[in-house]
Amino acid sequence: MRGGRPQPGHALNGEAPAGLAALVVGGGIAGLLAAYRLAKAGTTVTVLEASDAWGGCVGSHTVGGLELDSGAESFATRSTAVADLARELGLGENIVAPHPGGAWVQLPGGAQELPKTGVLGIPANPWDPEVRRSLGFAGSLRASVDRYLPSSVGTSAEVTSVSALVRARMGKRVLERLVAPVVGGVHSADPGLLDVDMVAPGLRAALRQHGSLAGAVASQRKAGQASSSPTRPSGAVAAKAGSAVGGLKGGMNTLVSVLVAELSSQGVTLVTGARVDTINHVDGGWQAIAAGKTYDAGRLVVALDGPAAVGLLENALPELSGLRPAAGPLVSLVTLVVDVPELDRHPRGTGVLVAPQTAGIEAKALTHATAKWDWLAGETGPGTHVLRLSYGRGEGRDAPGSAAALDDDALFEAALRDASTLLTVPIVREDVLDWDVVRWAGALPFAAVGHKQRVAEVRRICAEADGLSVVGGWLAGNGLAAVVADTSACIDAVL
Ligand SMILES: Cc1cc2nc3c(=O)[nH]c(=O)nc-3n(C[C@H](O)[C@H](O)[C@H](O)COP(=O)(O)OP(=O)(O)OC[C@H]3O[C@@H](n4cnc5c(N)ncnc54)[C@H](O)[C@@H]3O)c2cc1C
Repeated sequence: MRGGRPQPGHALNGEAPAGLAALVVGGGIAGLLAAYRLAKAGTTVTVLEASDAWGGCVGSHTVGGLELDSGAESFATRSTAVADLARELGLGENIVAPHPGGAWVQLPGGAQELPKTGVLGIPANPWDPEVRRSLGFAGSLRASVDRYLPSSVGTSAEVTSVSALVRARMGKRVLERLVAPVVGGVHSADPGLLDVDMVAPGLRAALRQHGSLAGAVASQRKAGQASSSPTRPSGAVAAKAGSAVGGLKGGMNTLVSVLVAELSSQGVTLVTGARVDTINHVDGGWQAIAAGKTYDAGRLVVALDGPAAVGLLENALPELSGLRPAAGPLVSLVTLVVDVPELDRHPRGTGVLVAPQTAGIEAKALTHATAKWDWLAGETGPGTHVLRLSYGRGEGRDAPGSAAALDDDALFEAALRDASTLLTVPIVREDVLDWDVVRWAGALPFAAVGHKQRVAEVRRICAEADGLSVVGGWLAGNGLAAVVADTSACIDAVL
């Protein structure tokens, strides 16, 4: 099948008519969801995944006998996209809210409860007692200047970073004490490098509308709560205002297992260990080559990270070549399963985000998973705890001193030290029942300033190529809520 006219159907059985056959490259959540939507509409689909596991960043691993998420472990409830998908796949009963304890932030001066009314850590009310505790009187006073500034401050430039917007409107303390820890925890990047329109879509438009950044945050939070409340399952713990995420009993990885089972039952051909190294646009159809094998189809869905997607498509669409985004950061996650009964009192709620300038701590975040998810605490029983520490603030994977690049043993030692400090409870090697390190290299998209324009341009070029869809976090924005909503919209548009 190499070269020449694209053959009908997928390479493995070749039975489908060309117009109805689709090839999906990448078996992360975007690729699997695209395949699901296409298959449901009657298209014959083949999915090619480079690794030996499905789900991409929504992965799983077994630590201490527990099946745990190795990547994404929750979803934003600012829209109903993920909850709707979970319900559609029969997982509605498993949707849960995190324990309402909330998270903490570790600042150079000590730990504080993280205010629960922000977007990316930006407060809706600088005088809220929790916000004031983090910022001090002078910080709250400076942040409230936002209300008196013209709405053009932070919105007049076509593109701007998270830092530039926050610093101009609310000052340095909001940036350093609230925004940098949250942005570091979620995006593993310096807020000075991130495009605010990608990581907080609609925020600047809301600022223009409401006249202040605090007002914009309040309006987004209100909209998020309105859209998330119908998704709250009966019996789920109502989340404290601010913990705008949900999860699934059994972990987010169950979404992937159910999707894969559904795809198999619909006759979708699922191929792992198939790293696509060439994509051609031949005679009006598409051709992908993986492990020396050629796959042809009338429709191609590219569901990869940004650098890989542009790298593979620029041969067929040379206009894309100047639009390749930089690779995302290296993030290393250390999971510890420990026997430490003192942790039953959840000393730092659901976990701690670490402000970058905090000395003596290498982790950027710690999730106390058994404090966050009641279903998991039910599985471990009292005294046993699951802690997940993440390393890597986007310094570059080979950067000297990048904690994410340490070897497994060094990361384990760092995790014991950091967990003890952050949770204020000594945790030693003898307390550890099991541990694991998972590395995510380049999996988090790096939405550098100007990325929104890049996305618009990529989408325009790809829309002009017949039978091509490009989906994934690098275009939709990081996070399952964005990826699920955008992928469904892209595929529905072509169906
Ligand atoms: C550590 C971590 C924690 C996260 N936590 C959360 C969270 O709690 N909540 C949340 O909402 N979001 C979270 N995210 C983000 C979220 O997981 C992602 O936005 C989303 O899963 C991206 O999905 P995707 O399908 O676009 O990309 P990916 O999941 O990256 O999938 C791309 C797939 O393509 C495959 N691939 C790559 N190259 C090739 C090739 N040449 N040929 C074939 N296949 C290829 C890859 O192996 C991968 O399976 C987290 C991300 C990471 C890395």
